Amino acid sequence: MGEIQNKSMFKLSYGLFVLAAKTDGKDNACIVNTVQQIANDPLKIAVAVNKVNYTHDMIKETGVFNVSVLDEGVSFDLFERFGFQSGRSVDKFDGFSMTERSENGLLYLTQNCNAVISGKVTETVDCGSHSLFVAEVTSAKVLSDEPSVTYQYYFDHIKPKPEKKKTGYVCKICGYVYEGEILPDDFVCPLCKHGAADFEKI
Ligand code: FE
Repeated sequence: MGEIQNKSMFKLSYGLFVLAAKTDGKDNACIVNTVQQIANDPLKIAVAVNKVNYTHDMIKETGVFNVSVLDEGVSFDLFERFGFQSGRSVDKFDGFSMTERSENGLLYLTQNCNAVISGKVTETVDCGSHSLFVAEVTSAKVLSDEPSVTYQYYFDHIKPKPEKKKTGYVCKICGYVYEGEILPDDFVCPLCKHGAADFEKI
């Protein structure tokens, strides 16, 4: 193999999505950056999810998920809520009212979300750190005409600029900063997919 520069992956045009699942009446969600349409007949999408994510386990168990496509109006708060905390012990929807349920019973975002797509898994590919869920689209709805947020837009306009030195952990791959005393072992960088092992204390 030749040289591999992880940062080159950011040149791919990632969007940002809230991926929701549910088991035993408990809703959960995480932020992912890889959702692609892979076929049109039948209509299929693929979603890559880090295995340390609780949402990953829920999708493996139930085979269904919702993808909320985030738009450019999304706030940093939403990233903190769905991306920056460990999912096993926290209720990410606690106090969050901007949701509705689609016909599969799962939640999706009604704000800062321009489309919702429901998927039913037809194939799961073990990719190492991640599972790739290939899914048939069971419903899909456009919610607004706002542009989808891209990775670049997030870095340029949404992520707070680091003015003063903060305590926390920085992702060695993409520079994402986790603010907090302790980084959970199952933490996954919401932007670049790397796990807690690729973070260092600042
Ligand atoms: Fe990262």
